[in-house]
Amino acid sequence: GQCSLYCPSGAITEVDQTQNIEVILKSRKKLVVVGIAPSCRLTIAELFKLQPGALTTGQCVHLLRLLGFHKVFDVQFTADLTIMEEGTELLHRLTDPKAITPMFTSCCPGWINMVEKQYPKLIPHLSSCKSPQGMFGSIIKNYYAKKVKVAPQDIFCVTIMPCTAKKQELLRPQLRNEKTNIRDVDLTLTVRELGRMIKRRGIELSQLEQRDFDNPLGTSSGSAQLFSATGGVMEAALRSAYWLKTSETFPKLKFQPVRGLEGIKESSLDFDGRQLRIAIVSGGKNIHKFLEPWGTSAFNYDFIEIMACPGGCIGGGGQPRSNQHILPLRIKSCYNREDSKTTRASHENPQIKKLYQEWLKKPYGEKAIQYLHTTYAPFKFASESLKDTKSKYFENNQ
Ligand code: SF4
Repeated sequence: GQCSLYCPSGAITEVDQTQNIEVILKSRKKLVVVGIAPSCRLTIAELFKLQPGALTTGQCVHLLRLLGFHKVFDVQFTADLTIMEEGTELLHRLTDPKAITPMFTSCCPGWINMVEKQYPKLIPHLSSCKSPQGMFGSIIKNYYAKKVKVAPQDIFCVTIMPCTAKKQELLRPQLRNEKTNIRDVDLTLTVRELGRMIKRRGIELSQLEQRDFDNPLGTSSGSAQLFSATGGVMEAALRSAYWLKTSETFPKLKFQPVRGLEGIKESSLDFDGRQLRIAIVSGGKNIHKFLEPWGTSAFNYDFIEIMACPGGCIGGGGQPRSNQHILPLRIKSCYNREDSKTTRASHENPQIKKLYQEWLKKPYGEKAIQYLHTTYAPFKFASESLKDTKSKYFENNQ
């Protein structure tokens, strides 16, 4: 995938982190929870020469249980949460004359790395929302831990992710407890690594029954499934932002202008009486091309979704190898699963409603900002920081 260009963690790919997780599981010292990302349930089957999507979500849950994880959760739950926060942030930016627009999505760490390294002037335009992985870790260590009365340091939080950029994301200083320095997410496995673990254990995929996720982080809407592919976060955000603004359902359930594998998509829609200009971009080259007119009148948008990998996370670098025939099958499986969900929009997810009632109170409120939002900073290149250290050294030793 393209993301290897932007994740400085190329080296991490070579380290088999499945060994680490086996040790943790065997030691039985910690409560080991796992969360699976929206795109990963679509692709696991391919590692075993099956069609994309051949394994149901319920079978993936069973698989993770057989591997020994104590609690099996859904990162789609926090994808719904991301939409609640990002949708509210978008409305805030659109209505507050002092707020900075356009707003860019922030759920792809490949894109975040690119901004921090190559486009630092875009930092104020990034949504302050943590990614679904970031929110997952935060909810586990700050909310779930209290609920089940286990100390955060006694929980080991694992995520199954489409790329190695996610391994690097979890190391961000912003994604740990400031006081205790405990990380929100402890370890990420890519789909390919998960495949190795399954093969080593000799688990037969054809024999898998359906199982349900554990709760409360196990319920999700169709919108959350859409996060797997380019355009999905936009579609999900439009549904809920529209509802948050008007208390009415977004008129187009399948919003075609944002769908499909094209690298750059643009549209404009009536959003409660104002024209909302949106764009969806995926793949490194397309991102650079799209940003060329930045700062000129030709660049005229309100909300932009960006994913570093062509096609979005279904094309991630940690996924089974893909080609131009595989990606359309993966995206088809994503939309089929969305269609089969009874709850389609993030704000309709009953567990999300409960989380706000019980703990967060309101989207983009004080508590939500504390636990679900983050900050970004221009990246300091190694040579620069070396220079800094040197000059400090000289200052201190003169
Ligand atoms: Fe990772 Fe998805 Fe971003 Fe690719 S598009 S870098 S898979 S988060």
